[in-house]
Amino acid sequence: MNAITTTCPECGAQWDDMTCADYFQELLALDHRDVHPFGRFHGLNVACYLLQHPSEIPEGQQDQIGSLWQMLTVYLSGGIEAVNDLERLQDAGGVPSFDAPVAGSRGAVRFSSDAPIPVPERSRAPSITIGDVAATDPNDPSRGLFPIAGYEDRMHLWVLSIAAERGLGAAA
Ligand SMILES: [Zn+2]
Repeated sequence: MNAITTTCPECGAQWDDMTCADYFQELLALDHRDVHPFGRFHGLNVACYLLQHPSEIPEGQQDQIGSLWQMLTVYLSGGIEAVNDLERLQDAGGVPSFDAPVAGSRGAVRFSSDAPIPVPERSRAPSITIGDVAATDPNDPSRGLFPIAGYEDRMHLWVLSIAAERGLGAAA
């Protein structure tokens, strides 16, 4: 007997052919190809994915979830431009950096040793997960994942879901 899990233990998404991690790898590949608009959303989608799948934050770096949460809140207050500004500051070493840790073997992730940013506990189930952002279409399986049309809107809904999961903007 095999014991295939069909529900994500972290975000609760139903898995068909692909797991959440599979979707995330597809999205990272798009980010790194630097195709508009994916590249500029890279940091934000890493943050979204890891906030819904905190067990995938690398060993010893769990306390850096605050940096991920900061990226989300910066997006909510200032949009993707503000996130990109934050990332430029991170590149300059001004604030903690957190880049694609699940990609694995690349160079060490660099973090600030400043006081951790508090992150609210999850109190609600997600309404949007990475599978929704991937927007698979059962009627058109040949269409690629993460179609550009509507991508920024789906990212926005993903962020709103994660914020609501942790009690931010839950009234919306
Ligand atoms: Zn999941």
